[in-house]
Amino acid sequence: MSWRAVFSKMMELSIDGVFLEGLDGTIQDCNSAGLKMFGRTRAEVLSMRFEDLLLAHSFPKPGLVQSHREPGEEACEGYGVKKNGEIFPLSLHSQILSLQGEKSWVIFVHDMSREVAIRQELAYAAQYDALTKLKNRRAILEDLEKLRHPQPVGMLDLDHFKGINDTYGHLVGDQFLRCLGGLLNQVPYLTAGRFGGEEFLLLFGHLGLSDARQALEDLLEKAWGCLREYGGIHFSAGLVWYDPALQRAEQALSRADAMLYQAKAMGRNRVAVESPCAGARED
Ligand code: GH3
Ligand code: MG
Ligand code: MG
Repeated sequence: MSWRAVFSKMMELSIDGVFLEGLDGTIQDCNSAGLKMFGRTRAEVLSMRFEDLLLAHSFPKPGLVQSHREPGEEACEGYGVKKNGEIFPLSLHSQILSLQGEKSWVIFVHDMSREVAIRQELAYAAQYDALTKLKNRRAILEDLEKLRHPQPVGMLDLDHFKGINDTYGHLVGDQFLRCLGGLLNQVPYLTAGRFGGEEFLLLFGHLGLSDARQALEDLLEKAWGCLREYGGIHFSAGLVWYDPALQRAEQALSRADAMLYQAKAMGRNRVAVESPCAGARED
C-alpha cells in the first residue's frame, strides 16, 4: 500500500475533521469526521469554501483566513454551522502543505462542545454554592470588593439552626439552606452569597437603607411560611450603609456582623439596622 493510501486511511481514523483547502478558499477534500461534524455530504462540501462552514464574525480576529493561519499561532476558537443550522463551538489549527509544487492549507477542526460544556460547569462551580445556588464566599467577597457605589450591606444568619439539625437531621437542615437560597435569589436588586455554613452576605445594589430593611422584613415573613412542618425558617440579620469611597470592605463586613449579633442579642428573628451615618440614603 502506498504511503498516500496509508495516509488517507489515517485521516479516516481521526476523530477531528481534517480539511484540505486551496489557496482560493475552496475545499478540495475532507475526511469523514469533518463531514459528520458539519452534517454534510462530500459532494456538498466540495462545492463550498471552508469559511462557509463557519459562523461569520465568531472568531476573535476579523478575517478568519488570516487569523488561523499565522505560522506558529495557537489554534483559534469560534463557531461552526451544521447543515441543519445548529451552531457548535470548534477550534481550528491550520498548516500549509506543499505537494509537488502546489500549495494547500490543511485545516484541523476540533469540535469543542464537550470542552466548552466542562469549562462552563467549572466556571459555575468556581463561583456558586452547590447547595443554595447562591454565589459562594469567594465570589460574593469579590463582588463586595468591587463595589463602587454606596449601598446597604447585610449579614444574615439562621436562628437556632444547630437545633434543626439535631432535631430533624442534616438532610432537613440542608433543605432549610436550599429553601433560603431560593428565597434570597428572588429578592429584587439583591445579590446574596453563602458566606459560611448558615451565614449569608447581602449586597443591596442601588436600594436605599429603608428599602433594604423592608426587603429583609418581608423576607422574614416569607421565610417563616416555608418548611412549616419543621417550624418555618427563622433568621436574624444585620444591615449597614456602606460607602466604598470612605471605608474598606472588611470594615463593612465587621459592622454588618456586629449588627447581626445585636439582632441575635435582641431575641433573634429580626433585622438590626445600624444608625444611618451621614450620607446614607434612607429611601
Ligand atoms: P444562632 O441562632 O446563635 O445562630 O444558633 P445556631 O444554632 O444557628 O448557630 P451555631 O453556630 O451554633 O450552629 C450553626 C450550625 O449550622 C452548625 C452546623 O452544623 C450547621 N451547618 C453549617 N453548614 C451546614 C450545612 O451545609 N448543612 C447543614 N445541614 N448544616 C450546616
Ligand atoms: Mg445561626
Ligand atoms: Mg452562624
